[in-house]
Amino acid sequence: MKAIRVTEHGGPEVLKLEEVAKPTAGPGQVLIQVKAVGINPVDTYIRSGNYPGATLPYTPGRDCAGIVESIGEGVKEFRKGDRVYTSGTITGAYAEFALAEVRTVHALPEKNSFAQGAALGIPYATAYRALFHKAQARAGEWLLVHGASGGVGTAAVQLARAAGLNVIGTTSTPEGEKLARENGAHHVLNHSSANYTEELMRLTENRGVDVILEMLANVNLGKDLTLLAKFGRVVVIGSRGKVEINPRDTMGRDASIHGMMLFNAPDHDLKSIHAALYAGLENGTLNPVVGEEMPLKDAAKAHVAVLEPGAYGKIILVP
Ligand code: NAP
Repeated sequence: MKAIRVTEHGGPEVLKLEEVAKPTAGPGQVLIQVKAVGINPVDTYIRSGNYPGATLPYTPGRDCAGIVESIGEGVKEFRKGDRVYTSGTITGAYAEFALAEVRTVHALPEKNSFAQGAALGIPYATAYRALFHKAQARAGEWLLVHGASGGVGTAAVQLARAAGLNVIGTTSTPEGEKLARENGAHHVLNHSSANYTEELMRLTENRGVDVILEMLANVNLGKDLTLLAKFGRVVVIGSRGKVEINPRDTMGRDASIHGMMLFNAPDHDLKSIHAALYAGLENGTLNPVVGEEMPLKDAAKAHVAVLEPGAYGKIILVP
């Protein structure tokens, strides 16, 4: 089968399309014929060598969707031909076939495309965990999704809107703004404009927001703390550097900063998250946005694109 292989850490050019042996499903494992692969920023961090997550040589990727090709001994949850998506793989998702432990394989509703399925594993699970497990967001609260146009942000906006929150999203482009509104954001601000914080305070009648989901904490965290209402919570989802904060901004508000890493979520939480996602897909409140599809051989291009400004839903590779 064809797969993207990484034999040395480095820039996107280290992603090479190669011929490798097709895996076979062992006990408790599922072999999936991959129809779509979700590109996540973390795939680029691991590839560059600055982040744990893979031993060389390896095939990148945790998120894919496709059809069950075969099941290993003891697997009762799936049959050959089932439509599924993954939240982890053993052999890597950037390939024609991917082997996964059954606990990381989830049913994909008929009405969702494989590309949409590949957008679920990391982005939707992260958004769900940040909103409901970490921030404990409740209907009627005000939420700022700081970075509402990308994979996690679009998921967060859909989940929050369906749960009855007042949703403010930020993006940096008119296309991103339109997308955030279509996904359910009540208000959209431009995070690169000088006065978006004033606009947020005006929208909330100077109260501030209850929850902030932060995609780029190294830029925004200091300011975020001044935008929180009393008992406000910030969840740090993404950060690419250091930032200065004034701890006093948390004190008067009894505010909290929650760090989160989806990979730390225990299995029972993941089970609950994916059950909730299935329900949302089924009832139509969740509808993953696929911005761009590229052939598997263009993995390097996809790794460049996913880090560029102007996010628009998910970038998907098609084997
Ligand atoms: P993505 O699809 O590339 O989207 C990035 C988002 O960040 C876009 O909405 C982008 O908006 C926004 N953004 C860029 N500059 C910003 C700024 N100054 N202020 C606020 N938002 C800004 O990436 P993703 O998959 O959604 O992931 C988002 C971040 O979360 C990444 O850093 C990723 O590594 C991290 N992440 C962490 C976890 C975890 O477990 N902690 C899980 C998944 C992802 P524009 O392009 O419109 O400017």
